[in-house]
Amino acid sequence: MKEKQNPNYVCVHAGQLKDEVYGGATAPIYTSTAYDYRGEGTNLYPRYFNTPNQVALGKKMAALEHTEAGMIFGSGMAAISAVFMAFLKTGDHIILQRALYGGTAHFAAAEFKNLGIEYTMIEHVDQESLSLSLKPNTKMVYIETPSNPLLEITDMALVSAFAKANSLTTAIDNTFASPINQTPADFGIDIILHSATKYLGGHSDICAGTVSCSQEHIESIWKTAKNYGGSLSDQTVWLLERSIKTLALRVKRQSKNAKKIAVSLEKNPNIKKVNYPGLKSHPQHQLAKKQMNAYGGMMSFELKNHIDQTAFLERLEVIFPALSLAGVESTILAPTTTSHSLLTPKEREEQGISDGLLRFSVGIEESSILIADLENAMEKSHKKK
Ligand code: PLP
Repeated sequence: MKEKQNPNYVCVHAGQLKDEVYGGATAPIYTSTAYDYRGEGTNLYPRYFNTPNQVALGKKMAALEHTEAGMIFGSGMAAISAVFMAFLKTGDHIILQRALYGGTAHFAAAEFKNLGIEYTMIEHVDQESLSLSLKPNTKMVYIETPSNPLLEITDMALVSAFAKANSLTTAIDNTFASPINQTPADFGIDIILHSATKYLGGHSDICAGTVSCSQEHIESIWKTAKNYGGSLSDQTVWLLERSIKTLALRVKRQSKNAKKIAVSLEKNPNIKKVNYPGLKSHPQHQLAKKQMNAYGGMMSFELKNHIDQTAFLERLEVIFPALSLAGVESTILAPTTTSHSLLTPKEREEQGISDGLLRFSVGIEESSILIADLENAMEKSHKKK
């Protein structure tokens, strides 16, 4: 039935663990770490990623990402590192997009070197840069779109066609878009990763990660992941499943709010630049339109020099300066002092991350309240002449 592909339907019903005993509407939680090993079937154990709640949520993530299978991890980085470790060994090479979540970039810098894994980071992912980076030992291409914090868009169909022609595995961090706004498997990407700490959890109270891909790839990931042991407790798996029931509603609202706010900020005389893929002025707006269902709740903007950034952040009354993103509440941060503080000023400049840049995660509050909060804080933060 076509209606069963509707995102709200999938969020509520896919992979739902039934309460067979009492007929309750919500899923039961199976917290056991010890299961009877006798009889037919596999042995259940939390670190084998196969307890009832983990398996059910894996099915929901597969349904949301249009893949065959899914697995749940203790954090986004546990999921990302398990995928790297499953597909790369000493002597292999991986192509990474330069604009990556800081933790992933640090993983590459700190761990790949120790493991003897080579990597190349490319600035703008296109046919030419991919071809120039390709080596005989290349095994994987890893991308993130929209990127953090500049909201650059990478062409998923192009990456997947290049990878298929060269027998490479592709992986994407789909955290910023969420499966509601973007389903990379439909563009041929093999492995889809999420920091479920963000939109999937959505209430700033869960740390988790997910992987969605083919059954064959899940089996390779599982063989490695069970050795590293990054599974998520069933209590939190249950809470994450409960949160995902409202994912489509939340993301729809956040995307709608963000579009209105981006349009308003673009016209504001205190703003130098707004980065939001839903704006016609975004250089890759057409590409975003092709591969996204909506443009998401994340944006970044630069204040003009006459506005004092520290004062602006202090004068916000509704929008909360905070490190993470994608909760129901609106949050904001300065990448220079947080997510990208480990880069040198020159590296930040090369990547287009100015000191005046602010990354804004739009929540579900009324857009008029958020716009008023931004405008009010700007008006009260003019530098003294
Ligand atoms: N990917 C993106 C885009 C992120 O923003 C983050 C965390 O901020 C991660 C991955 C890592 O996720 P976690 O903190 O859940 O390990």
